Amino acid sequence: MIFRIVLARSFCRVGLINLAVGRVTPCAPFETSTQNHDAPGVPRPANAAGSSARIAAAIATWTVLLASAPQIPAQPFQLPTANHALFEPGGEEQFFAGTVGKPWTSGCFGCVRTEGRQMHEGLDIRCRQRDQRGEPTDPVMATADGTVAYLNTKPSLSNFGNYIVLRHAVGGLEIYSNYAHLRDLRPGLKAGQAVKAGETIATMGRTANTHEGISKDRAHVHFELNLFVNDRFPAWYKKTFPGQRNDHGVWNGQNLAGLDPQLVLLEQRKTGPKFDLVRFIQGRTELCRVVVRATDFPWLKRYPALIRSNARAAKEGIAGYEVALDFNAVPFELIPRAAAEIKGRAKFQLLSVNEAESRKNPCRRLVTQRGGRWELTSRGLNAVELLTY
Ligand SMILES: [Zn+2]
Repeated sequence: MIFRIVLARSFCRVGLINLAVGRVTPCAPFETSTQNHDAPGVPRPANAAGSSARIAAAIATWTVLLASAPQIPAQPFQLPTANHALFEPGGEEQFFAGTVGKPWTSGCFGCVRTEGRQMHEGLDIRCRQRDQRGEPTDPVMATADGTVAYLNTKPSLSNFGNYIVLRHAVGGLEIYSNYAHLRDLRPGLKAGQAVKAGETIATMGRTANTHEGISKDRAHVHFELNLFVNDRFPAWYKKTFPGQRNDHGVWNGQNLAGLDPQLVLLEQRKTGPKFDLVRFIQGRTELCRVVVRATDFPWLKRYPALIRSNARAAKEGIAGYEVALDFNAVPFELIPRAAAEIKGRAKFQLLSVNEAESRKNPCRRLVTQRGGRWELTSRGLNAVELLTY
């Protein structure tokens, strides 16, 4: 398939779209998880009367009062182990497990591997407790309230080894956490099960299907926070990579757009109850802006809070979307566009590139310069193809 790409200069618009955009109020509230927050039922005595009835009435009153009392919202995300050195000045060394012979920074999120040319999509959090054989025993805990979305208990099928994906609704936004290289999962843990923030879901380990494996020394939990790209991922993958195995369905890492959990945790710590995940995502640094001639794809329904309004498109009809991507291909802002606002007929058009960001975080290689002109690479095209599939 061939796509014509409109070229762009250094972070300059290609004189195509110049409309004031406003913020859209999030649409329908997010469909919450299947968690049941009700207290377990208390059996009623057969002859309840007199004082027991008064007690029951008092309990009922308190229940109503407690339920209606204004509650200070807890911080939505917690660290997934007892290692909290991330929050201590100079604690990074104690928090991050770097790769062999490399500094702690190689355990961070971002272009931190192979001299900045390779992406690491999570945090590698160091082990703090071991058994007599030196194997890690740190409990791994849910970062937030949620439900179990996926479990992999066949370590040979993933470089993540044993891993768990949890689904959360934070600030009306669907977000997924991933805990990898686990030694054991909590017995009985099943997809669909509700978990509370801080609840132990597994034991830290060093499982992986990579040739080199993970040494006892480097035992860690690999922790991710992701947005979910497309429910149609398996079909897209089959079409795009014919003959290649996809052992994890929609839970393939390519279908999860990673945020930096360190930034999320630090921002949340700084802003306290005012932390706003939607605003955090909207504040990502832009790598590039692409116009897609697609008007119906799952991201629009899953993340309406990331769509901004455009009066002209609302009036004339939506012919496509302008999408801002960060360096990790997270579509953090989408603006509907009317037909008259989109030049050219290409399915995907690169509008602009933030050169500074492309130099700072080059490892995903979504855009490249050829003959002085910017274009989407095959990886960049894959990212927008998958988004709009
Ligand atoms: Zn890792």
